Amino acid sequence: MSDISRPPLHLPGGANKLLLHSCCAPCSGEVMEAIQASGIDYTIFFYNPNIHPQKEYLLRKEENIRFAEKHGVPFVDADYDTDNWFERAKGMEWEPERGERCTMCFDMRFERAALYAHEHGFPVMSSSLGISRWKNMQQINDCGARAVAPYPNLTYWDYNWRKKGGSARMIEISKRERFYQQEYCGCVYSLRDTNLHRKSHGRPLIKLGVLYYGDDEK
Ligand code: SF4
Repeated sequence: MSDISRPPLHLPGGANKLLLHSCCAPCSGEVMEAIQASGIDYTIFFYNPNIHPQKEYLLRKEENIRFAEKHGVPFVDADYDTDNWFERAKGMEWEPERGERCTMCFDMRFERAALYAHEHGFPVMSSSLGISRWKNMQQINDCGARAVAPYPNLTYWDYNWRKKGGSARMIEISKRERFYQQEYCGCVYSLRDTNLHRKSHGRPLIKLGVLYYGDDEK
């Protein structure tokens, strides 16, 4: 457990049970420790069928499981539903990041998380996705609100994990834990576009499973 000081967190409506959708260990590290430091009862829900290829998916998932076990937090592995993800992504292959494909991607992940929360008695759900500075917070919050709309007893918690030192602690924890440092958002299209960008700037292409936080400081 980190000894970093943080302001105490309170779930909406005075609830004390949270389902946290997690995208990966680096993003959820600070979110998990902040929630834990506030004494909130929570469970990790890992459903990320966007991540491609499977080698990368397993790397990100195993890293997250390891960290959840270290903190004694229940981890729900909702498996790798890639066929449905590709079906929903059809026609959006060339959408830019933060565009329509990403809305679909957040929607799909949050819909599954909201269903699980509803079926297992969680009054609140949230996601670690919003802590990344590469993401559009409003886009994520809109998807979260849409996902919980069918369930009157479920609220999406749109807490801004980046603020009050959250972004800095995210990096600090990632280095401390020596998390795997993914170099693209997750889907095959983000891998392609990141590599195209690198190529156009004369940079080497992404090598999966190689870079870990703190490596650059050696
Ligand atoms: S770029 Fe990221 S958020 Fe957007 S569709 Fe791909 S994996 Fe999902």
